[in-house]
Amino acid sequence: MSDTHTTYFEFWQETASRIKETLPEQEFHTWFNRIAYLRSEDRKVILAVASQFILDTVISRYRDMIRNTLIELTGEDINVVFEIVSRSEIEQIQKPHKMEEEKSEAKPVVQIQPASRAISDEKALKMKKDCNLNPSYEFNNFVIGDNSAFAYNASLAIAKNPGVSYNPCLIYGGVGLGKTHLLTSIGNYIINNTPELKVMYVTAEMFTNEFIESIGSQKTQQFKNKFRKVDVLLIDDIHFLQGKDSTQEELFHTFNNLYDSKKQMVFTCDRPIKELKNITDRLSSRFERGLNVDLQPPNYETRMAILKKKIAERGSSISEEILNYISTNVCTNVRDLEAALTKLIAYSELLGQEISFEKAKELLGILPSLAANSNQTLSIDTIIKVVGEYFNVSSFEIKGKKKNKSLIQPRQIAMFLSREITEFSTTEIGTEFGGRDHTTVMHAHDRIESLMKGDEAFANTILKLKRDLTNGKK
Ligand code: ADP
Ligand code: MG
Repeated sequence: MSDTHTTYFEFWQETASRIKETLPEQEFHTWFNRIAYLRSEDRKVILAVASQFILDTVISRYRDMIRNTLIELTGEDINVVFEIVSRSEIEQIQKPHKMEEEKSEAKPVVQIQPASRAISDEKALKMKKDCNLNPSYEFNNFVIGDNSAFAYNASLAIAKNPGVSYNPCLIYGGVGLGKTHLLTSIGNYIINNTPELKVMYVTAEMFTNEFIESIGSQKTQQFKNKFRKVDVLLIDDIHFLQGKDSTQEELFHTFNNLYDSKKQMVFTCDRPIKELKNITDRLSSRFERGLNVDLQPPNYETRMAILKKKIAERGSSISEEILNYISTNVCTNVRDLEAALTKLIAYSELLGQEISFEKAKELLGILPSLAANSNQTLSIDTIIKVVGEYFNVSSFEIKGKKKNKSLIQPRQIAMFLSREITEFSTTEIGTEFGGRDHTTVMHAHDRIESLMKGDEAFANTILKLKRDLTNGKK
């Protein structure tokens, strides 16, 4: 096999550079500068030294170390054998490599086929930091539930094969549901396994700010080049681009450029693209072009699993009863779950003892996510008020008996949203709407639902109102 030769040579180089990090400098130079890579055969690396004395020393001190490192890097059971050649031959062999080493000083990327680990942890960490990735978000600390399985699998497939199947990809979902975690995991995975690919993570806000700065300093060309030379572009929170026309324009061109050269792009957004406002059609059609996956809030079982995973990661312990209490009451998103947990752990560390159920309840009672959690606490009156403000009619009129066309629809929308968002029964809702019958509420609900199906713009309006209400804009 002709390319086995080159492949093992690269593995040898990486082996030497790893060993260099573990040995005193003097010792490394004394012995390893006297070893030359000769050739390789199937699962065999043949190295050369210049004398029996060197051979004996290298074998007794370093052969296992070399062999084990090669095995670790290649994932194959490699044998290491030595030959004795003349000193001048050794120098001859080493010369071109030495020069290569010097040349590549600035960019010491050793290209290695994905083995158990493609680069050292240290190097990977530095690369992750350089492209703005938070190294602690990984696929293996993401808890998969029904709500997230599809998004997770798509992200993993992208990470394993960037630019191939799902390009571009859009991950959307509400705040705190793991969008940034998944997006970042893609980048981290690629750096760990295919470090020769250039990854870049930015938030849409960073992208915008850098673009504006580049205009100010007349460096727009540099800005363009920077984003167009990457292999994997990850842009978080693209809803931030709403209303920012020239940044959108710039991203549009970046997109086309990368798309044409089959570079991977992944975006996240807090809502489906259709619900974005003030985004040019041509850009939004680009976002929608590839795979769109959503993240939903986790269900009870997934919330429990997430809590348990986080506790294990932090090495703390919290009773099952308390975990059940949190999972039952914090239904909003993972960020709120984490906040609840952090609060309890901080408290128990402060006291140096495990926290009691009573204390946990007391502490969590004042969490905003718990206080506001219950969509039940979102009153029907609030819904009527918000809908009224949107359509410019008063709460009084919505609850009243008048049947003007301008009133009927807002009234039905308010009923629909009350039914969707709160736990109140149709009878209770009817009562709040000026003592109407529950069948009126049911009819209103059906009516709005069918209108939404037939009219996208209308549906978007309703969804926006719903989001405003449930996001606590009360
Ligand atoms: P988003 O970007 O959607 O607002 P993040 O990705 O920032 O949400 O997630 C919020 C927090 O919740 C982060 O600390 C993240 O690690 C954690 N998280 C979200 N989803 C999961 C999950 N499925 N498993 C484990 N942790 C999660
Ligand atoms: Mg985020």
